[in-house]
Amino acid sequence: MADIEDFLARRKQEGLLRSLKPASFRKGNKINFSGKEYIDFCSNDYLGLSFDPRIIEEIKKAADRFGTAVCASRLLSGDLDLHHQLERKVAGFKGKETALVFNSGYQANLGIISSLYGKGDCVFSDRLNHASIMDGIALSQAKLFRFRHNDTRHLKDLLEKQRAKFKKALIVTESVFSMDGDTAPLKELSELKEKYGCWLMVDEAHATGIFGDTGAGLVQQEGLEEKIDLIMGTFSKALAGFGAYLAASQLVVDYLVNTCRSFIYSTALPPAVIAGNLKSIELVEKEPERGKSLLSLAEYFRGCLSEKGLEVKGCSQIVPVIIGDNQASERIAFGLQQKGYWVLPVRPPTVPVGQARLRLSLNVYHDKKALEKFADDISKLKV
Ligand SMILES: *Cc1c(COP(=O)(O)O)cnc(C)c1O
Repeated sequence: MADIEDFLARRKQEGLLRSLKPASFRKGNKINFSGKEYIDFCSNDYLGLSFDPRIIEEIKKAADRFGTAVCASRLLSGDLDLHHQLERKVAGFKGKETALVFNSGYQANLGIISSLYGKGDCVFSDRLNHASIMDGIALSQAKLFRFRHNDTRHLKDLLEKQRAKFKKALIVTESVFSMDGDTAPLKELSELKEKYGCWLMVDEAHATGIFGDTGAGLVQQEGLEEKIDLIMGTFSKALAGFGAYLAASQLVVDYLVNTCRSFIYSTALPPAVIAGNLKSIELVEKEPERGKSLLSLAEYFRGCLSEKGLEVKGCSQIVPVIIGDNQASERIAFGLQQKGYWVLPVRPPTVPVGQARLRLSLNVYHDKKALEKFADDISKLKV
């Protein structure tokens, strides 16, 4: 027990102790903690769909018709037509032959990578990939090679030196990076994967709903559906639902249904969740302009921040403001909270040492005027 206590004491002393903070209410871009209201810059509800009455209606109807839950794995009695309807919808949306729904993005990445790859195989992973991708690789026991963030020359060197020593090989990346808000060079990655005989997996958690003609993501925007073997994404961010999916070939999905432990040994998502996910894809396809206007709002906000001399990264709805020093980022985040902005510092080990930052997520409820004032408030606290 002593080691657990020591660990927590040390974390606290370093100002890095994580703890939960329950909100009493959240809606739109407002969040309420113990009676105080803040403008929320931490939520991934980018399109503001979490209170869309059309989605809520479908969720209610499904709960009335199918009950609260299915109480079994998909392979037992938990599989409904509704799950397959969602999978057909996702396949069409993402431009792949078929799709498989997972209970969360974490479970999807863990299961997909660890079922398809094993000892004797290798995985080339962007240094900034999400923890769930890293954990999937670790569980697979494939040999891991990390390439510098978005650095296709580094990746090419690694492929040149290492690829031939292994049986199967995977290149894996996020399409929009969650901590840097930038996008992966998907076209170059797909050329490298062809040249070196690898598969390419793309995690579209933050791109779905925002990028692409019908909001399907960055793969759609770049027209690379056919080149990318495994397109993974979540319902839990812009789609304001829950769960995740893999869009891929029928062969891959059949294989995962037979081997993927995080799919097989977990209860199917409740019908109401599935129905909500279905509706939200339909809305995004019908109204993709929400994502586009969010991107132009983010572009405007980046301009405001740069004008104030702040260091800003990315090219998406995720706007990281680099502060550098851990203590300074805490002080600024706390100062912003006192002004009514819900902003948290992101520090190592989540981001590299010396790159502590404020990670600001925009959503459709933010407006230009308020963002101008916000940029001003940040710059005043920075000095
Ligand atoms: C959020 C996220 C996940 C995990 O998805 P959940 O549905 O929240 O488990 C996976 N990958 C990336 C890049 C994410 O941002």
